[in-house]
Amino acid sequence: MQFINGTRRSGSGAPLSVVAPATGAEIASGPGANAADVEAAVTAAREAFPGWAGLTPGARSDIMHEWARILKTRAEELASVESLNAGKPIRLSSEFDVPGTIDNTAFFAGAARHLDGKASAEYSGDHTSSIRREPIGVIGSISPWNYPLQMAAWKILPAIAAGNTVVLKPSELTPLSSLIFAEAATEAGVPPGVINVLTGTGLEAGQPLVEHPAVAMVSFTGSTAVGKQVAATAAGAVKRVHLELGGKAPFVVFDDADLEAAARGAVAGALINVGQDCTAATRAYVQRPLFEEFVGRVADLMDQVRLGPVEDPETDMGSLISRKHRDKVSGMVERARESGAKIVRGGRIPDHTPEAGAYYEPTLITGAAQSSEIVQQEIFGPVLVVLPFDTDDEAIALANDTPYGLAASAWSRSVFRTQRAAREIQAGCVWINDHIPIISEMPHGGYKSSGFGKDMSAYAFEEYTNIKHVMSDITAEARKPWHEVIFRAE
Ligand code: NAD
Repeated sequence: MQFINGTRRSGSGAPLSVVAPATGAEIASGPGANAADVEAAVTAAREAFPGWAGLTPGARSDIMHEWARILKTRAEELASVESLNAGKPIRLSSEFDVPGTIDNTAFFAGAARHLDGKASAEYSGDHTSSIRREPIGVIGSISPWNYPLQMAAWKILPAIAAGNTVVLKPSELTPLSSLIFAEAATEAGVPPGVINVLTGTGLEAGQPLVEHPAVAMVSFTGSTAVGKQVAATAAGAVKRVHLELGGKAPFVVFDDADLEAAARGAVAGALINVGQDCTAATRAYVQRPLFEEFVGRVADLMDQVRLGPVEDPETDMGSLISRKHRDKVSGMVERARESGAKIVRGGRIPDHTPEAGAYYEPTLITGAAQSSEIVQQEIFGPVLVVLPFDTDDEAIALANDTPYGLAASAWSRSVFRTQRAAREIQAGCVWINDHIPIISEMPHGGYKSSGFGKDMSAYAFEEYTNIKHVMSDITAEARKPWHEVIFRAE
């Protein structure tokens, strides 16, 4: 279950069992990766680096275009593996995860030829200054389980388009699609060692990867708690770090909003991927005149969402990633209930889904306190909390009142209100009259405790390249005016 130096091989660590969360059935097993596998993968990546970095951007681009083409031919296989391993309805994996990944691959194939910097110029008058944008080296990437394929793509693509090599450690719960993604790269002509995938736990494989002295940069997507540990470890060796962490997106509905659009947007934005989306709508703030009707419409729409087997094209919502994670989600909902919040819909395990699966009903909550856990902390489940507000100032203050800052949305027909929200909400993305869509050309990344650095788009190259200033004398004089600081004028 490891992919090192262009081939699949067994790991040397503790046994790993990969389970389909919707049914509880084991779908793969084998030894996980440990420090010895990290050593082998990092060595392969280090050896592959000079050759890959030395290719012309055009040559890297050609190989990556071929990779995108091969991924298209394996799209169905990828969608069904992703659906099974992550508990996603097949409609979601085949219409969102897989096409998004193919588009991202094609985007970075093109972007590989557009690594630009400032134009050369004579800023001092006596020198020509130019900028070299250089790859960093071996990147240690660590990804989560919620969108396994897309997260692997977001980590690997900009890094290798810029000439780096990568060792990726996906979540131990969802390693299968990352292995296929790397295998397709090799088939397309990406040389062995440029992309390596280690499937293992955070402690057995992730920690040694972050600590490895030949890993020049750590790129991490996951929870804020683990991100802080990763950053602390990397700081010890002054490694560059890119952190994409948790979110708690506000969804602000002003009283002039299109109510139907807002209610539909809230349900889709809260329930996508069973709410296991770092940008999911989790806190809807609704101006008081619309509050009751918004809650009613959201409840009605949630009633229409069909839970079921992930392979059924009629299924709208699949299962959470594990029963352990479901316990966390239901624990937060129970504590909200006990502290006086009203559970308007859901808040329970459905009775018609497999007992060994990890399903949870779409859940709508009102009456929670702004300071409560359910409003402040990431739930990562199909749970939407709706709270009222009175003034625009209050809405902006409430939207900004959590430690997170990944994404947000504002719903209004007034350009003044939406532009104010775009300016004043502290988040890496603010949608106006929508919530969730992403595109390869635009960046994704957080403010505040949601991390720093950007995935996707040409902005991702800022993470994965070093900027070198080259300053060349153009006077050909041995005696330069600035030498007077040392040699007295003669
Ligand atoms: P997690 O933090 O538990 O794990 C993430 C990855 O880190 C996994 O591969 C895990 O094995 C590894 N890991 C755990 N301990 C480690 C350690 N000590 N050293 C190195 N690696 C270690 O997160 P998760 O539960 O897999 O994913 C859910 C979280 O990811 C949520 O908080 C979500 O918001 C976040 N997320 C953020 C974004 C974003 O773009 N900001 C995108 C997707 C998910």
